[in-house]
Formats: sequence, C-alpha cells, structure tokens
Amino acid sequence: MSNIKENLDRISKEIKEAALASEYAKEVTLIAVSKTHPAGDIMEAYEWGIRDFGENKVQELCGKMEELPEDINWHMIGHLQTNKVKYIAGKTALIHSVDSIKLAREIDRCCKNKGLFQDILVQVNISEEESKFGTSRDDAITLVKNISTLENIRVRGLMTIAPYTDDAQKSRPYFRELRNLSIDISKLNIDNIHMDLLSMGMSGDYITAIEEGAGLVRIGTGIFGARNYL
Ligand SMILES: *Cc1c(COP(=O)(O)O)cnc(C)c1O
Repeated sequence: MSNIKENLDRISKEIKEAALASEYAKEVTLIAVSKTHPAGDIMEAYEWGIRDFGENKVQELCGKMEELPEDINWHMIGHLQTNKVKYIAGKTALIHSVDSIKLAREIDRCCKNKGLFQDILVQVNISEEESKFGTSRDDAITLVKNISTLENIRVRGLMTIAPYTDDAQKSRPYFRELRNLSIDISKLNIDNIHMDLLSMGMSGDYITAIEEGAGLVRIGTGIFGARNYL
C-alpha cells in the first residue's frame, strides 16, 4: 500500500510550520521529486494537490511530460548535457542545474529558435565536493554576469545540493552560504538577474533549508519512498 498522501500531509504541515518560523523563508514550494517513480505515483501526488514535480533525466522527463497533465510544472534538477538541451529548453518551469556558460548558451539558442523563454537557477557546488556538479562559489558571480547577456534566459536564483548526512544541522552552513551568495549577487543589480529563489533541501534536510531561506525544496524519498534503480 502506498503512503504518498499521508507523507504529503505530514511534510506539507512541516513545511508550513518551518516557513512561518523562519526569519528568511517567504513562500515555499514543494517540488515532489518523482525520478524513477511511475506515472501512477505521480498522479496520486497530483490528486493530493502537488503541481511541481522534479526529474533528473531528460528522457524520463520528456516521457512523463507527454503522458501526464498539462498543468504540471516540471523541474529539471539533474545534470544536463548540452546535447540534450534541445528536448527540454523552454518547456520546463525551471532548470535548476545550469553550471556553465556553454550550457546556458545552448539553452538560450534553442529557446530563440522556438521563440520561447526559460527560467533557470545557477547550480553552485557550495561544499566543493569533487563528485558534485555546479559552479564554484568563486566562479558563480562571473557565470551569472555572463548569463545575464542571454536574452531568452531568465536567472531566478541559485540551487545547491548539501553533502549527504544523517544530521540535517550539518547542512546548515552550506544553505547559509548559498543565501549569502544570493544576497551578494542581488547587490550587484545585474540586468536580467533575479535572486528571488533558493532551491535547497531534500528529504533529510528540508526543514533546515527552509530555516535558511529555501523557496523551493526538492523532496523525493520522503514522499514516494525508496527508489529502485533498475
Ligand atoms: C533525487 C534528488 C533529490 C531528492 O532526494 P531525496 O533525498 O529522495 O529527497 C533532490 N535533489 C536532487 C538534485 C536530486 O537528484
């Protein structure tokens, strides 16, 4: 038996409470990370009221986009290869994982061809783990400035993935660092750059992330249960 709706009841309550208590969080959007999970599970969350879903693979994302209701906001949260950009550019609500000017240029080019626009986040590897994608904190400002010249892309904020831990408090410094970076970038008043969204926090640390100002939390396991990678 599936517990998706009970999980959503509990998690959404926790999100509301954390957002109310947080000095930094304004409105928090729950993104249900549905990667590897079938359409039936997504529809259960949809019926509960979720409209934002996150996927990390282009092929799976495109398949689900075609099959599932049109009013879903799809979020691309995984590493994106330049050669796959054409399948999703301008079609997702938000691409969270832009970490190079090359990738941004390709998104812009594909959008221009179709007369579309794409909201994006810049992924920052705040923890500097070698295994993670994302621009370094030091390079983030240069990257944002370069992206600001691309007409069909709108930068909405920053995204990060904290290192895996059992202790959510250990994620706090990384979330705080991302918030501080977004404030530094806002102060530069760069044209075409908005720093209104921080995408941070997953099943293990979303409450901490909201306390530190997350506007988007990406929760998979907590909603849908463990993933089976086939
Ligand atoms: C899979 C994934 C998540 C969700 O992780 P859970 O621990 O299952 O909540 C969040 N963000 C990204 C980038 C992911 O790839």
